[in-house]
Parts: sequence; structure tokens; C-alpha cells
Amino acid sequence: MKYIERKDYNKVITVKLVIPGGCNAKCPFCYNKDKDMSCNKQQFLDNFIESLDDIITRIGDKNPISVDITGGEPTLDPEYLSKVFIKLKEFNIKSKVLRVTMTTNGTHLKEVIPYMEDVVDYVNISIHDWRPLRREEILGFCFNGIDYKDMVQQLNDIRITVSACAVIFKKVPNFIKWRDFFIDWAKDVGFIAVRFRCDVFWNDSDVFDYYLTESMSETDKFDVIDYENTTDSHWCRLRRKDKMRVFFLHGVLDTSIKTKGIEYVIDTDGHCYCDYYRRTKVEDYQYEVGKIYDAVSD
Ligand code: SF4
Repeated sequence: MKYIERKDYNKVITVKLVIPGGCNAKCPFCYNKDKDMSCNKQQFLDNFIESLDDIITRIGDKNPISVDITGGEPTLDPEYLSKVFIKLKEFNIKSKVLRVTMTTNGTHLKEVIPYMEDVVDYVNISIHDWRPLRREEILGFCFNGIDYKDMVQQLNDIRITVSACAVIFKKVPNFIKWRDFFIDWAKDVGFIAVRFRCDVFWNDSDVFDYYLTESMSETDKFDVIDYENTTDSHWCRLRRKDKMRVFFLHGVLDTSIKTKGIEYVIDTDGHCYCDYYRRTKVEDYQYEVGKIYDAVSD
């Protein structure tokens, strides 16, 4: 495969922090189902700041960086995650990158909120469906006790904005009505946005692109803020007339095959890789870190 440098794009490089410790959910579309998630939690704690410092230095001022905290379910062991936040705060992460986000299903989010101030800018909570029963079916566990309104308020109080996230993994009957109910529900809870993401394993994912383009064409409901269709993603950012933000993102399972350099992964061992499957350590990478390269056919 040949790669050429991309010149014209939305310039943000993602550094994922994969918090070790597994997950309590059983989403049918889990992106970790074919990934080795074995870990040594102490090893991650010992190594991740050094790896983060190294990758931030390598990227330098070539492009802004988004650090995305993910898992498994990052809040599963709240005491452990608090230690990660304390280290990030000591490292003064906020002064070194464009933004820090975290994606969580919300399980123990409330317990770690006090440690997130001045560390995290943005939280995505995986909701998947605004109807609680359907949500429980998708995630595979019971949500009794998760008070989204209160959680979002507590995060807003420390200047962290929160969006609701839904993975679309099959056709949604009467999508437009379902989407609009979802956005209304999210607004009522206090979310700033709803993010619809396409299941990367879905064979019929053209349906998602249809939902995306149809929503863009509803000019009486939405303004189109951004739209991009590149080798590794098809996405748009919309704003409903009442200011609720709506994102559609159709990404790929392994960005490193189609696009190099747009994502780095500090995995559960605390070391930095150039892909989600630990194939290439950043020390062994053959391209210039900080630049983005797209695959082209010979
Ligand atoms: S919450 Fe995330 S990591 Fe856990 S099963 Fe669902 S998709 Fe996988």
C-alpha cells in the first residue's frame, strides 16, 4: 500500500488512552471484541504519562491534539481512574493539548467527577437509546440508579460539557421520529449534543450514510456546520434550530490501514502504538509523526 500526505483536512490528531480493566457492558457492536484487552493495571499507571509526554513532543506544533480517554469502561474501577486523573492533572495536560475527552457508559462516572476538574473538557456518555428498556437490552446491564440529569449538572458545574452518544448498528424503524425524540430527550437531560456513530462492523452501513445525508437535507430543522468525507471517515456536524448539536460519524474499524498518523493509542500496557491493535510501536513508525497520510492505490 502507498500513502501520500494529506494536505486539506480537519486538523486534529487523536491520542487514545485505553484505561485497563475491562467492561461491564455487552454491546453487540463492541469495537474491542477482536482486540487483546489483557492488562496489568500498575504497568499502565507507571508508563502512560511518559508515553503521553513523548507523543505530544513528537507531534509538536504540527497539529492540535485531542486526548480521548476510553476503555473498556473507564469508570469501572473509580479509584483507579481517579489515580489516572491525578497524574494527568500533575502533568498539566490541559496546557499541552487542544482538549481532553472521555467516553463512558456512565457506570461509576459520578464517583470520579471530583477528580475531573481541570483535566477533562468533554464527556460522551453512551446512551444508545433514549428508551431505558431498549438501552438496557443494548448495553446488557441494568441502569437503576444512574441519574443522567444530576450527573450532567455536576459536570457542567466544573465546566465540562457532555454529549449523549448512540451507536447505530441496524436499521432504526422510523429513524427520523426516533432521532428527534432522542434529541429532545437529550436536551431535557442537559446534554449539549447527540452523537450518532455507525457500528464499524455493520455490513449494511450504507443505511447510516443515508441517515446522515437525509438529516443534512432537512434544512428546515438543521444547519450544516461541517461536513467531511475522507478515506477514514464520513461525518457531519449539524445544529438544530434550537441550538442542539448533532453529529453523525461513520468511521472505520482500523484507521491506520486507510490513514496513517491521525490516531495514536496508549494501550493498556501504557505504551504508545500507531494503531489500535498494537502492530506498530511509535518508535518503529516509518512516517513523520504529526503528519497524516492517506492510502492511495498504486
Ligand atoms: S461499553 Fe464500550 S467497551 Fe463496553 S461493551 Fe460497549 S462498546 Fe464495548
